[in-house]
Amino acid sequence: MNEGPATELLIAGQAVAGDGEAIVVENPYTEATVATVGGASTEQTGAAIAAARDAWKAWATMPAGERGELLHEVARRLRQHQDELATLMTTEGGKPVIENSDEIEWCAAAFDYYAEIGRDSAGRVIPPIESSQLALVVKDPLGVVGCIVPWNYPLLLLSWKLAPALAAGNTVVCKPSELTPLSTLALAPLLDHLPDGVVNIIAGAGETGATLTTDERVDCIAFTGSVATGKRVALACAERVARVNLEMGGKDPFIVCSDVASELEIAARGGAWAAYLNAGQVCTSAERFYVMEDLYDDYVSAFVDHTRTLVLGDPTQADTDLGPMISAAQREKVVVQVEAAVAAGAELLIGGDSGGQEHGHFYAPAVVTGAPAETALLREETFGPVAPIVPVKDLDEAIELANGTEFGLGANVYTADLANAVKCMRELRAGTVWINDPLTDNDAGPFGGFKQSGLGRELGREGLEAFQETKHVHMETKIERKEWWYPYSEYSAGD
Ligand code: NAD
Repeated sequence: MNEGPATELLIAGQAVAGDGEAIVVENPYTEATVATVGGASTEQTGAAIAAARDAWKAWATMPAGERGELLHEVARRLRQHQDELATLMTTEGGKPVIENSDEIEWCAAAFDYYAEIGRDSAGRVIPPIESSQLALVVKDPLGVVGCIVPWNYPLLLLSWKLAPALAAGNTVVCKPSELTPLSTLALAPLLDHLPDGVVNIIAGAGETGATLTTDERVDCIAFTGSVATGKRVALACAERVARVNLEMGGKDPFIVCSDVASELEIAARGGAWAAYLNAGQVCTSAERFYVMEDLYDDYVSAFVDHTRTLVLGDPTQADTDLGPMISAAQREKVVVQVEAAVAAGAELLIGGDSGGQEHGHFYAPAVVTGAPAETALLREETFGPVAPIVPVKDLDEAIELANGTEFGLGANVYTADLANAVKCMRELRAGTVWINDPLTDNDAGPFGGFKQSGLGRELGREGLEAFQETKHVHMETKIERKEWWYPYSEYSAGD
């Protein structure tokens, strides 16, 4: 008998059925219901937080090397279950299985990285005020961390929070997106070697997330999602001065310089991959192309030719390049943006329909030219497989346009000229600048946004520090009266 995916929550080490509102999980390719998950009731969310609090002291005081071993074991188990987790993510999210398989490996790599960084985490010894003293800066865990993640990279974006939070000695309550809860709930057996309550997993929509953000027992919220939700999370955390880390939306530019004329085909393929990966549903998707005028026509035609070769279809098949979008609603947002641009004078050169698919939320990858600068397609996040291409006269104009939105997550550049590369590195206002290798992440390289794209960083040492509190310890080795104490009649200031 096919039992279907696990749908139970993980609270205090126990698998429990959710008592809250039911979540119906759809397969975006077949449009059939995959499973129904009982969301966490308010009481169950509270129980998960309480379990994390109860588990915290023992976890926080466990030697970091021991915690590291347990995190390496999570990585081993993720790799052992790579195929089934990747398939489950494809079933609920529609991302091609080849990409989900990579995602699981990246999750495992993040756990291995933070297992080691955590046990190498050091404060510092600073010069004391007097020679009889010792002064230290030490790093403490924060306490209970609430991790709230979106649906586009459900396990990776969770791992970038969970692994460093645990490595730093925090306990955690995880809330996946209501669109993709199954792969996160499926992690429970992979975490059963951790003490009960160290990781708790609940399911639910926005209200469940909001309950986490307003609970005084949650010391930090690590959030990835849209700017609008991120602002709500930030306000809830500000109200009670809780720590918050925000990874939000983007509108990444992709600049192509004249000096890559001989490698135009590569720059077009790199651009198409950056725009269409996961059907454009990547926070760092390339969503605006600024191409030097002398290359523009050839670049557009190479881009369209390459786009025509891409295979849409069943995301469980290894040779599928693009699967469906996550939902009918997400697809509709893209349709509306592109139609508005076309109504304002833009031209849709290819794509923009369902790509001949009979079911599933498919949006055939699209190339758009001539979109006016003020259209939403060039200003707001699209989150779909659309490449608007704009000619620019020089690099200064490209950089000015690139920096001209409220976002600043990532930016891509193709150039063979060192001076251009350095200029872009210095002048682009983005958390990551990729030069000639779009969208490559590095566990050791901090990831996050300038401007409204975020607050704080994930990955790298910064990604561990996001889950640490800083304490200054001032230690006097002699017990003696200080001359600047009362009575002031015996003390002359400034001596
Ligand atoms: P979303 O903001 O709708 O939801 C994100 C998460 O927040 C979900 O788990 C949701 O249930 C929860 N949530 C909703 N309302 C809440 C509230 N009031 N309080 C607390 N939690 C609440 O985003 P989405 O549609 O799931 O994801 C797409 C967005 O995520 C895009 O804007 C994309 O750019 C962004 N994203 C950013 C990054 C990054 O690293 N910067 C990575 C991936 C996705």
